[in-house]
Amino acid sequence: MSAVRLDGKACAASLEERLKHRISNCKNQPHLAVIIVGDDPASHVYVRNKILSCERLGIKSTHIQLPDETGQEEVQKIILELNEDSTLHGILIQSPLPSHLDEGSLTDLIDPRKDVDGFHPVNLGRIVQGRLDGMIPCTPSGVMEMLRWANIELEGKKAVVIGRSFNVGMPQALLLAAKGADSTVTIVHSRTLDAKSECLSADIVIAAVGRPEMVRKDWIKPGAVVIDVGINRVEDSTRDRGWRLAGDVHPDVSDVASIVSPVPGGVGPMTVAMLMANTVSSAESQHS
Ligand code: NAP
Repeated sequence: MSAVRLDGKACAASLEERLKHRISNCKNQPHLAVIIVGDDPASHVYVRNKILSCERLGIKSTHIQLPDETGQEEVQKIILELNEDSTLHGILIQSPLPSHLDEGSLTDLIDPRKDVDGFHPVNLGRIVQGRLDGMIPCTPSGVMEMLRWANIELEGKKAVVIGRSFNVGMPQALLLAAKGADSTVTIVHSRTLDAKSECLSADIVIAAVGRPEMVRKDWIKPGAVVIDVGINRVEDSTRDRGWRLAGDVHPDVSDVASIVSPVPGGVGPMTVAMLMANTVSSAESQHS
């Protein structure tokens, strides 16, 4: 068997079309502010992609670039000002921040209604309550959108989520178990005794680990759906640049799975599209 490729770019393009329609009906142009501190090259690539996406859709973006040595208080002050700006609907702090900054307490300062990353405790807590109409973290909500788009049945299915981070694995598990999705969910993490046998019993495996190609074909039940969230840079001397991107799932999984999302071109584009969706939702429920 060779698995069908779950095309995240096509799914994101379809979502963007729906967003354009919603944006054209918005009373105020949706507006996203991205705060980036320091010179991490990968972060700059991510921010550029987000800004390009805003331009494609007609979302206004403000890029706030701060030097590496910016202090906690200065970033706090900027966030508080952005909270008060009634022309602004989304605030995003690009991760990772330099180590002298406390990312958690900065996130806590963002007005939850403008928290388009969905990382504020209020927004994460709402998911636990089954209130899924707010700001949901973009990667797990992007995975849910892909599964819906591909008409993948979730009800009663056994799903294994590998990873329990607050930004991906844990909200992913909650979304899959939530009423309406109705999967039976197991969370696998670094202390799980036998990750392979947990995965082997799953109809759906979502890998969000950060370990290149950890999930092999002998971990996967024939016909299972496999979503690869991982983005890992691995050395590759055959490439001019000396590296390539790898997911958390080995390519040989395609021999046994029915559907696999690729890396790149799978969950990545969906994460950006869901960020746009959160910004549009925030503009639609305009707050001053
Ligand atoms: P993270 O915060 O480092 O969390 C990794 C999780 O994997 C942790 O819960 C950890 O368990 C678990 N883990 C580590 N080693 C394991 C092992 N050997 N067996 C089972 N579980 C193990 O990472 P993250 O932010 O969730 O990101 C995960 C991956 O997704 C990364 O590759 C990241 O680059 C990628 N990512 C992609 C997107 C996208 O848009 N496609 C967005 C965000 C993240 P413990 O909790 O026990 O430590």
